Amino acid sequence: MLVQLATIAGRDDRPNEDFPAALADCAVLLDGAGGPAEMPTGCRHGTDWYVRQLGVRLLAWMGGRPEQSLTAMLAAGIAEVNGLHAGRCDLSAPGTPSTTVVMARLHPDGIEYLVLGDSTLLIDRQSQEPLIITDQRIEEVAVAEQAAMNALPTGTPEHFEARVRYVGRQRELRNRPGGYWITSADPAAAEQAFTGVEPAGELRSVTLLSDGATRFVEFGLGGWPALLALLGTKGINDVFDRIRAAETDDPDGARWPRAKQHDDAAIVHFRAR
Ligand SMILES: [Zn+2]
Repeated sequence: MLVQLATIAGRDDRPNEDFPAALADCAVLLDGAGGPAEMPTGCRHGTDWYVRQLGVRLLAWMGGRPEQSLTAMLAAGIAEVNGLHAGRCDLSAPGTPSTTVVMARLHPDGIEYLVLGDSTLLIDRQSQEPLIITDQRIEEVAVAEQAAMNALPTGTPEHFEARVRYVGRQRELRNRPGGYWITSADPAAAEQAFTGVEPAGELRSVTLLSDGATRFVEFGLGGWPALLALLGTKGINDVFDRIRAAETDDPDGARWPRAKQHDDAAIVHFRAR
């Protein structure tokens, strides 16, 4: 397998909170959800610090602990990163850093995965439709607040205020019954991830994407097969260029309502040669 990865920040003046990392036979992709920088988090380090601390641990353990389940690794990672800052930061704050997580381990006969949050894993095999694994449960909460935000032009003060209300409501519903589960300060969230093993026969590619990168499909620039074809020919940079061009052509979000004009984007792509 050839493995390639790339990431691009949504804004030059803010840290990139996406974290893609890979070894020859495993990968992890995180998309940190800090909310607008103006909203308090209780953490003096920041969401970019959080995803780096967690991401490097998950990758190291995937590379060195073949006997440990991905669920156990995620729970252990959450607990260990808690220990790095519990003394100085308020981890009970509703806005404590959180992140999506996609983990994939490639074995000779199967692809073992874990997905929690709205990043995506694509498994592409010969003569089959691509398998799409993602966790969109966050879309089922704060629906009214999201609709109110989406009705307003991106980049206006009114849109920003609506986004603060939307993120605030999401935070109230995080990791509690009736809400949604996400990787944050509670190790028990790991048990709520989608996990499984997919057969690796006739495997063409395995791809991990943040939601900044799946905008390619969400915006209708092409379907999943078109995205995979681009990755196999022109590469990740070309996918990013097309997303940025579409975003720039829709500066106020009239065509594609969204929280941010440009989002951080990240892709890890394994391809059989
Ligand atoms: Zn902290």
